[in-house]
Amino acid sequence: MNREDFAILKEQVHERELVYLDNAATSQKPQPVIDAIVEAYTHWNSNIHRGVHHLSQVATQHHEDARKAVANFIGAKSSDEIVFTKGTTDSLNALAFSYGEAYIYEGDEIIVSGLEHHSNIVPWQMLCARKKAVLRHIPLRADLTLDMEAFAGMLSDKTKLVSVAHVSNVLGTIQPIEEIIQLAHARNIPVCIDGAQSVPHMQVNVQTLDCDFLVFSGHKLYGPTGIGVLYGKREWLEKLPPHEGGGEMIEHVRWEGTTYNELPYKFEAGTPNFVGSWALKTATDYINSIGWEAIEAHERELTEYCEQQLLDLGCTVYAAGQSKAGVISFNVGEVHPFDVGTLLDQQGVAVRTGHHCAEPLIDTIGVPGTVRVSFGLYNDKADVDAFIAALKRAQMMLS
Ligand code: PMP
Repeated sequence: MNREDFAILKEQVHERELVYLDNAATSQKPQPVIDAIVEAYTHWNSNIHRGVHHLSQVATQHHEDARKAVANFIGAKSSDEIVFTKGTTDSLNALAFSYGEAYIYEGDEIIVSGLEHHSNIVPWQMLCARKKAVLRHIPLRADLTLDMEAFAGMLSDKTKLVSVAHVSNVLGTIQPIEEIIQLAHARNIPVCIDGAQSVPHMQVNVQTLDCDFLVFSGHKLYGPTGIGVLYGKREWLEKLPPHEGGGEMIEHVRWEGTTYNELPYKFEAGTPNFVGSWALKTATDYINSIGWEAIEAHERELTEYCEQQLLDLGCTVYAAGQSKAGVISFNVGEVHPFDVGTLLDQQGVAVRTGHHCAEPLIDTIGVPGTVRVSFGLYNDKADVDAFIAALKRAQMMLS
């Protein structure tokens, strides 16, 4: 699907054509996104919001158009609810600090799940240490699904926030976030969704989901690095204090004190990544031009095709048979995942190995790590066939 838009896929790695199956770490960029960055620096680079001159106005217009495009892309009510950040990690740290300052007190509880990325654990641990609050996690059942009965039992008057991944970056499994949101909202508890691995693979609509916050990264969504999003419902963002001080986020600064800018600028201190936001808009345009229906069907077919072949080869696939969003983790017997990854790399196949920044989940599975293959819209069955052939050769070398 649209492979020719991704020039990097023609690169040779160890004298073989690259087979790129590390999309959960970062995706490759289509030519329009690369062109948007070149166009920005060639034609309209200028600092935004503060300038009366032409270029500054053009740059400002691009940045604000990008905000509208991102709002539309995730179905937000208004572009004021889109805060541009550096990425998912930055968004979660911003939320943990801001929400924590305003709403977390000693003894309060924050709930995440047992399969989170470190980005959705550590900022909450830091907040809990500052505020003497408690971080709890939804346990996993033996099949690595969330124990929803346990979750329902964990919610109490002490619970002040729930923050969970929509799609596991290790297993690829899709979490029951609709049910999580309903259960939390029944107790007026806000919910943050880590969409780092879902927004690039499926249509996510914040109003349909009714989540209070959604975070994601541009670079996994065919956009550039250094740009991401913190979506928040207006009623929350209005109440929350800024997490950083500086230019842009202020209304007036006096020695006696400072008043803050309106939404969303209150949360965007300093010069924002206006080239990144424009390139991210270009990435969302690119996805829209293909359409979610086609992308989802294509990636589902590839994932199922690949998983079946891994099972046929006798590999241990984690969360086998469960519906996945473009990510599969496996191991080859007792072989260390790093060895499998190295042998695949020597054959031009890029996969990721290790704990995938989700050590608590890897500990629960009880392995040193996994090998992870992850798909993007440009991958095809030939990539899976090349990967499986390379894996067979690796298996032969290892046996
Ligand atoms: N959450 C999840 C589920 C992820 O997969 C990742 C990236 N691996 C992150 C958070 C962190 O994203 P970033 O490094 O772009 O901030």
